Amino acid sequence: MSQGGVVPGGVVTSLEPYEDPLDLMDEIDQLKKDRDATILAHFYVDGEIQDIADFSGDSLKLARDATTVSTSTILFAGVHFMAETAKMLSPDKRVLIPDLKAGCSLAESCPPQALKKYQDELREKGHDFQTVAYINTSAAVKSLCDWIVTSGNAREIVERVPKDKEILFVPDRHLGRYLSEVTGRKMILWPGSCMVHEVFSIQDLLRAKKNTPGSIVMAHPECPQNILEVTDFIGGTEAMRKYAMSLEEPKTFLVATEANMLHPLEKSAPQHTFVPVPGIMASTGETCACNRCPHMALNTLQAVRNCLRDETPEIEWQPYFESARGVVAKSLLN
Ligand code: SF4
Repeated sequence: MSQGGVVPGGVVTSLEPYEDPLDLMDEIDQLKKDRDATILAHFYVDGEIQDIADFSGDSLKLARDATTVSTSTILFAGVHFMAETAKMLSPDKRVLIPDLKAGCSLAESCPPQALKKYQDELREKGHDFQTVAYINTSAAVKSLCDWIVTSGNAREIVERVPKDKEILFVPDRHLGRYLSEVTGRKMILWPGSCMVHEVFSIQDLLRAKKNTPGSIVMAHPECPQNILEVTDFIGGTEAMRKYAMSLEEPKTFLVATEANMLHPLEKSAPQHTFVPVPGIMASTGETCACNRCPHMALNTLQAVRNCLRDETPEIEWQPYFESARGVVAKSLLN
């Protein structure tokens, strides 16, 4: 149970005293009614928060779910860019997020000013391109782009980019490299990466694979090439869930993505065994639990309760949301 502490990356998740999770869940249930709120939770937040949510899923599903909500308030248990996306798609709703500090290393690797400067430089050099952004970007960055992709729809969107255009893909170089390989489209890659998916240990993965004959390796396309090369199934979180559900015979899966993903996998496909692939600390070379996202970990039950109780923090509408909304709607809702 997440009752505070320090998670890998040195982020303090909560300093609040221990509270019984069942009491907190009851309190949240009541507050949802009092505040006319719907809870959306990403697959990477703690399982107990996914269990109390009205909708859980990957970024694509949650962006679509946000547009179907009938309550006046959305609480987004995830990270900042996800709550921003919900706000831009549902401007009339009040969108709350348990902790405004819940960012994303990928989104932060691509500041809007730096992207604009790079786009201008490429145009000056004669490049005729469209910018395709992974959804893990700020709204300000999305407003500078032509298309938005999630790991769930990336191939389909890349295929919609006119063939006579080059593609500038931001911010995840690993996902961009993988997409370039599977679509055959040449891409200019922004040098960003996810702090969680970069730390998987190829040695530990190969050892686990050897020690578990018949196991299936599942990895997120945000992982580096050396991990994907030994992976049996590459896909976003929802694709992983559907793939596991499609196999009836019990299997052991070695899972290379954020460790909380094991919760929906175990719920959806209980016939299988899911084993998280360990991370490795770059500074010491030691195996660690850094396959937990420190930003997602800020979504504790207490933080969700406090957010509903105090009705803050809230995602405020920004002028650039309007242009970002057009790109997001074209890419994710059509
Ligand atoms: S797991 Fe990686 S990509 Fe996902 S929110 Fe955390 S830092 Fe960002």
